Amino acid sequence: MKHVKCNLCGKDDCEAIFRNEKHELNLGDEIFSREVVNVICKNCGLIYNNPQMEQDELAYMYAKMTRELEFDPGTAPKKEKLDQKSLEANQYDFIMRNVSNTEKLSVLDIGCSLGKFLRFFKENGHGVMGIEPSKYDSKYARSVFGLDVINSIFKKELVEARKFDIVAMNYVFEHIDNPMKMLANIRDMLTDEGYVYIEVPNSENPFMGFCDYFSIGHLYSFTPTTITSILRAAGFEEIAVQTDNDSPEDSEKTFPYIRILAKKSNVAKDILSDYQKSKAKFELYKKTRDELIEKTKIRFSELRNGWQQKDSKVMVWGAGTHSSEMIKNRVLKETDLYGFIDSNPHFQGKMFYGKQIYAPAEIEKIAPDCIVLSSQFSENSIYMSAKRYEENGTAIIKVYDQ
Ligand SMILES: [Zn+2]
Repeated sequence: MKHVKCNLCGKDDCEAIFRNEKHELNLGDEIFSREVVNVICKNCGLIYNNPQMEQDELAYMYAKMTRELEFDPGTAPKKEKLDQKSLEANQYDFIMRNVSNTEKLSVLDIGCSLGKFLRFFKENGHGVMGIEPSKYDSKYARSVFGLDVINSIFKKELVEARKFDIVAMNYVFEHIDNPMKMLANIRDMLTDEGYVYIEVPNSENPFMGFCDYFSIGHLYSFTPTTITSILRAAGFEEIAVQTDNDSPEDSEKTFPYIRILAKKSNVAKDILSDYQKSKAKFELYKKTRDELIEKTKIRFSELRNGWQQKDSKVMVWGAGTHSSEMIKNRVLKETDLYGFIDSNPHFQGKMFYGKQIYAPAEIEKIAPDCIVLSSQFSENSIYMSAKRYEENGTAIIKVYDQ
């Protein structure tokens, strides 16, 4: 772990706003665990991990977190229809509404994932290129969408002297260890009239749940103010900003986001501070989260009395960070549990908190008395898979009851 200064303003004057002593990540064959401390810069309000994981540790974690864990490349669809209502369609529209030239753009997507963003540009006649560290994702983007993708972590040499009209990063920028340096590189790769497009989680509206808002991989947590300021500090000028506050219809579907388009600029604009506002926000966040945990603890202790009286077979659906947080906070106890259920084939058959992880297909045979759905954002979709067991008398328990 290394101590870092504020990447935005360069000052070394910060205070801790959130500490997770043991943030755990299930990587299939091991539980990756680190203390994660998030601090706020008292000068500009930028929120960041301090200390930060070293490069080799980050590379190790991401190499094991690849999507091969979740999907089997053999089942990848041959051709996917363009979904005009998807997140990527909204991102494409946002960019096209705000750039001055919409003809034959050249677009580079750093961390292009499955290529669902870039394909909108390709299918609308623009030139595209992607860089993606996951082998599976780059293969998918090439074979399903026919995209030009380099399978690598980002290195400036990969694009040589090529210049782009747009460089995009979707849910990538918060993972980068030196965002100012990244923006300087992007500035070099852009045409004089070029734009950078960034989408990150919106820390102005931190979501509330057992998985704390600060994830192990998010080295930086941006608000609309700090993302604007860092772009200004790196020689850009914001052209358009959209957040979940502007489009409540989107925020129901996804977690809070900031979408920002900025243009290369030679005019220095002021850097704004978000310190007071952000600090107050996260003090409230911490208090509200503690209350949620306490409330759920009471609810589960009542459930536990019932389970123990009936000698119930209790299973938890989800063997990841969410369940780890529930166990660490003593909402769930290992002694309550028969085992875990997870649809990730790389988890199945392995142990988690001393209990076995089973595939959903094994539920019928086990016939649990009760299944706890341990997920925040997938609670409803897991319920869809789990509700058929209710007919056999299995009680399904939602943690959030959305
Ligand atoms: Zn700062």
